[in-house]
Amino acid sequence: MHVTFSDKELAFRDEVRAFFRDEMPEGIAKKQRQGVPLDRDDYIRFQKALYEKGWFGYNWPVEYGGTGWSVVQKFIFLTEMAQADAPVIIPFGLGMVGPVIYTFGTEEQKQRFLPDILASNVWWCQGYSEPGSGSDLASLKTRADRAGDYYIVNGTKTWTTLGQHADWIFCLVRTSTEVARRQEGISFLLIDMKTPGISVTPIITIEGDHEINEIHFEDVKVPVENLVGEEGKGWTYGKVLLEHERTGTAGVARTKYRLQKLREQAGRAIRGATPLSNDRNFMRKLAATEVELKALEFTELRTLAAVASGKAPGPESSILKFKGTELQQATDELYVEAAGYYALPYVPDQYVLDFPDADRVGEGAETKSSLRYFNFRKASIYGGSNEIQKNIVAKHVLGL
Ligand SMILES: Cc1cc2nc3c(=O)[nH]c(=O)nc-3n(C[C@H](O)[C@H](O)[C@H](O)COP(=O)(O)OP(=O)(O)OC[C@H]3O[C@@H](n4cnc5c(N)ncnc54)[C@H](O)[C@@H]3O)c2cc1C
Repeated sequence: MHVTFSDKELAFRDEVRAFFRDEMPEGIAKKQRQGVPLDRDDYIRFQKALYEKGWFGYNWPVEYGGTGWSVVQKFIFLTEMAQADAPVIIPFGLGMVGPVIYTFGTEEQKQRFLPDILASNVWWCQGYSEPGSGSDLASLKTRADRAGDYYIVNGTKTWTTLGQHADWIFCLVRTSTEVARRQEGISFLLIDMKTPGISVTPIITIEGDHEINEIHFEDVKVPVENLVGEEGKGWTYGKVLLEHERTGTAGVARTKYRLQKLREQAGRAIRGATPLSNDRNFMRKLAATEVELKALEFTELRTLAAVASGKAPGPESSILKFKGTELQQATDELYVEAAGYYALPYVPDQYVLDFPDADRVGEGAETKSSLRYFNFRKASIYGGSNEIQKNIVAKHVLGL
């Protein structure tokens, strides 16, 4: 299979490439190059720059302020963004709750929430998982009991990514237990994080970062107009969102960029050593990962085409999720192997922030490789674990 771009598409690619080269907000490209973690403001500045260019809603329909781009344009955009080593777009607003609101929300909800998501004025987080309810999400226990014009929410959500920055959280909550199937008593609720009764507890990840949290709800009053769609139908809406999430977590363009960089690095005689490209075993593993990624790239294009024609991504998104994250982790392992013992030093964030130009042991990619390796153990778990994705593929794609 061979993909060629038309002259128009090539001109679009050049425009996108020039934007990421010349118009990234001050300091962000440098931080990315040096492996300095981005903070909340960096992400917002980056996303607002895309918004001002009119490109932030790259995957939204025109009627809601999106670009209405073709599949090929989206593919080009994501590829160029990765090739420029630009930050990722935080998915919770644009990629998750936004599509749920414009698909299932009321007119009032669309007007209230969508413009702020597009302009990155509001930071969203995702409240699905609970202690004891992850893979078996339908067992969730956070309750929302109706009291007049409000729901009273009680319970705990966990693993909430970047919840410490969030202005709003979208939650799956239990509104009824009197149902034939557990899924039927679940509703989709939008909750302002400033509401009294909400508290956030950090969870520190294995490499020492604060990326995830527990969120506790104690008698939190949520207006009924914050319910999306029908009460008890939240499972259906939440599933559509998960399919979008899984398609997004494949990260094919990013892995492609990282493998290219690794191949370049392998060709160089770093610190006078024999280039790694002489190591046939390493190069065989690198090539095998590249070949698998190429195959996945076409699966991604097929899924993007289905979404563009108005369909939900469907169970194929599970293939993208587990294969994409397996290849991310395989790439992380190759980076650690390439760095050898230079992968060992731990560079605390504060050191890098205080002395951004200081000499460090190894190259930027090397010192980062072990931190990234540990952090990305998460990829085969979040968005639904890879074992669960394989169950979905077995049942809904292979018909087993
Ligand atoms: C870094 C990180 C960020 C996250 N961010 C968010 C977030 O922002 N919002 C949110 O709501 N959630 C988030 N999650 C939660 C994530 O979706 C869950 O961790 C995931 O769904 C797995 O659930 P669990 O952790 O409860 O594991 P469990 O469901 O307890 O699973 C434990 C193990 O058993 C396996 N297993 C379970 N059931 C089966 C089965 N039927 N067949 C085969 N194997 C099975 C799983 O694959 C896993 O290996 C995040 C998780 C991580 C690690």
